[in-house]
Amino acid sequence: MAQLNPQPRQVDNLMPGRAENGQPRPVDKEKIKAAVRMILEAIGEDPDREGLVDTPRRVADYFEEVTLGLRVDPARHLEVTFSEDHEEMVIVKDIPFQSICEHHLVPFVGKAHVVYIPRKGKVVGLSKLARVVEEYARRPQLQERLTSQVADLIMERLQPMGVMVVMEAEHMCMTMRGVRKPGAVTVTSAVRGIFRKSEVARKEALALIRGTLR
Ligand SMILES: [Zn+2]
Repeated sequence: MAQLNPQPRQVDNLMPGRAENGQPRPVDKEKIKAAVRMILEAIGEDPDREGLVDTPRRVADYFEEVTLGLRVDPARHLEVTFSEDHEEMVIVKDIPFQSICEHHLVPFVGKAHVVYIPRKGKVVGLSKLARVVEEYARRPQLQERLTSQVADLIMERLQPMGVMVVMEAEHMCMTMRGVRKPGAVTVTSAVRGIFRKSEVARKEALALIRGTLR
């Protein structure tokens, strides 16, 4: 378990994939294709050989897909809330996510667990939390920032008593290069509100999550 983060943070509403008029800016696929062709040349490959001839286009499509979260606002999923007579913990476990690390642009893949305690019964559909995780993940990311962004957005939009987000992921940049440690799992957590103050609440949340932690 990583350390519990004691620092409150501002919600990061930055959408770098938007132009100044607020409209999503389409991915410049021609630019990616040219860049991939240069990479192939740089490593001594022949970009015109049969197996590689469509690779620049495929990589451009791939980058468009894995950075989709730059061109959408995850907050829109938390706009519709409903009232439920429930002020106990709500937990969504094992939300799968796929991201790319911003240091190497290679994937890191894992699961997120989100726990929150609604205030005055203000809750959101469970699938919406998964959408928020997914869209923040589909950007060049750091696992630490991804974890905080999910927690901060839920705090801002639902104003719950508290939020705890735990993420566990395997980073391909650790598996395939550098230290080459396949199977190493990085765990991050972000705690807000009552979970920061109350060890009892934190322990209960962790016990609910723990069934899935290795
Ligand atoms: Zn990396």
